[in-house]
Amino acid sequence: MTDQEAEIRSGVAGNIWPAIPSQAGARLLAMLFQLEGTQWWTARQLIDHQLMQLRMLLRHARETVPYYKDRLPHIRADEDLTLTEWRALPLLTRRDIQDAGNALFSRVVPAEFGDVFQTQTSGATGEPVIVRKTAIDQLIWEAVTLREHEWHRRDLSGKLASIRIFPKGGAEAPHGVLLNDWGVPCSHVCSTGPMALLSLATDVAAQARWLLHQDPDYFLTYPTNLAALIAHMSARGERLKRLRGVRTVGETVTPALRAACSDAWGVPLTDVYSSQEVGYVALQCPVSGQYHVMAESAMVEILRPDGSACQPGETGRLVVTSLHNFATPLIRYELRDYAEVGSPCPCGRGLPTLARILGRSRNMLTLSSGEQRWPLVGFDKYREIAPVRQYQLIQKSLEEMEARFVVERTLTDAEEEGLKRAIQNALGYAFRLTFKYFPNEIPRGTGGKFEEFVSELAS
Ligand SMILES: [Zn+2]
Repeated sequence: MTDQEAEIRSGVAGNIWPAIPSQAGARLLAMLFQLEGTQWWTARQLIDHQLMQLRMLLRHARETVPYYKDRLPHIRADEDLTLTEWRALPLLTRRDIQDAGNALFSRVVPAEFGDVFQTQTSGATGEPVIVRKTAIDQLIWEAVTLREHEWHRRDLSGKLASIRIFPKGGAEAPHGVLLNDWGVPCSHVCSTGPMALLSLATDVAAQARWLLHQDPDYFLTYPTNLAALIAHMSARGERLKRLRGVRTVGETVTPALRAACSDAWGVPLTDVYSSQEVGYVALQCPVSGQYHVMAESAMVEILRPDGSACQPGETGRLVVTSLHNFATPLIRYELRDYAEVGSPCPCGRGLPTLARILGRSRNMLTLSSGEQRWPLVGFDKYREIAPVRQYQLIQKSLEEMEARFVVERTLTDAEEEGLKRAIQNALGYAFRLTFKYFPNEIPRGTGGKFEEFVSELAS
């Protein structure tokens, strides 16, 4: 599909070429065909179509979702929705979703939207939420997955290796699991190479051994796990010979990690920004490296503290609306991540851009002046000072910072002193530092995610 080697798979016995796709494959390809066109639309065209779809969503939510009955304005059948009206609607927080419970579920999901299923978010901060979705959400998820492969010209006949969180007991070390293809959605539309899976619960040394044995063309994992693997393998002079690309999901990617991936492994890092509640939010552009918002399935707004829209270069709260979730309409949902608005993309796509995605407010540094900002903490710099494998900074108060490390051997006093100065310089303040060492890995948060910087002050 993206390459001469990956051909559309026929769903009809006796037919090979030109292929007649299966029913599931045909639906996906029809959706992908539209996405191929809409990505080149102008910003105005995209917003106009978003508002048309949002109007349908608002009417549905007001009529069938108890939570929204008195919270949304009545829109007459012959009335358009304007951007100004849209921006006046209330925001929805994670707490609102938890408090609303069943009241946020639609009482009447149109039959055409297909089967309704339920997902529970992992809850990186220990506050899981339950969201219902339909077959349409799933279809769009799958189509955007294919779009992402296509943008980055992946050769689907290659071997994919993935180290992720699996339900307990899944894809366990030392062997993991080897499957014949890349799975849905790729397997619906074309022939692919094999896919190898391993649980993230595996320690880094065993992960590295597994990866070297798999020798994949493509590798998918979480950013912090990737950083640990690159550091571990670089220290041993090990390298993945066939590797052509790395894809990350689930956590914030730092510029230092992108540089480490390209320096140590010689391949680009491509990040995907999604959330379990709303699906894909943005994909990285193959030309500029900015993130393109998936405007066909999500309305994304970046807001200032006063609720007005940020301009290019400004950073604000990310608010997202899934255009097609008629089972649990999430209208102007605050994802709690921050992002910087990007500029028009040189690739020519009209899809809105985000220059950077910065993570959560709890990952922001607070200074005694009251100023809050994103801390600059680069893994690569620490390794120049001492054999650090993993680090994490916890802001305890306006004066105190806990520095957590996994190190390859006991550090000398001079190395500790060097790290202390580097951290204080990076943070721009002489915090009192407490060093804490962990034998293998710094414990992850409740949702299995790892954060380099966590403030215990942030609300
Ligand atoms: Zn672009």
